[in-house]
Amino acid sequence: MSKKKFAKLTRNGKVVMEKECDYLDKSYGGVVKYGNDYMEGEVARDWKGGKDYPRYEICTHNGSELIFTDGGKEVYGARSYDILAYGAEVVLDLVGTVTVKPLISSGAPEFLELNKMIKVPKVVRFDWKDHEAPGNVGMKFWQALWDILPDGKIICCCAGGHGRTGTAAASLMIARGWSAEAAIEQVRSGYCSKAIEGKDQEDYLADLAAGMFE
Ligand SMILES: [Zn+2]
Repeated sequence: MSKKKFAKLTRNGKVVMEKECDYLDKSYGGVVKYGNDYMEGEVARDWKGGKDYPRYEICTHNGSELIFTDGGKEVYGARSYDILAYGAEVVLDLVGTVTVKPLISSGAPEFLELNKMIKVPKVVRFDWKDHEAPGNVGMKFWQALWDILPDGKIICCCAGGHGRTGTAAASLMIARGWSAEAAIEQVRSGYCSKAIEGKDQEDYLADLAAGMFE
């Protein structure tokens, strides 16, 4: 983890809030209006609402953070913007838009051989809406998915690396015998405190563990 940085929220020229953040992005630069306040420096564009919001809400998760391991399988979390997927066996693409291409493309076939030196993961796409739970997908599904997954590095990946990523990882843990509470705790303490977003996803995990779905 890089050195901690701080984002400042300014109201009438006075700093009213200062938050620690581990990622700064100057790409939108300068001072940005945030509601009736001004956010100094580090902000991101809310691509859904078209609003700006403080960058400290964003983490980077590039797939190097282990959430849990079981047998030879290691489950990691990632944010699609940051993911570094080479070397992984499988990417569970929970946002549905992650592409992991071969490192080299070329019309000269002798260079394509180099791709064989780099493990490109299989990408498994999910149709799963942001902030939601995956419907009535039950324990049998997660257990069957676990059985198909190979040994090695498995990366759960969504847009922010929090909601769907945390929920999928916790679902796999529950399929392996964890309680919902323990799985949520492990995802949040071992990976990111912002993971598993909102009550729908928490409720889904509790229902999954309770055997509510087939
Ligand atoms: Zn995070």
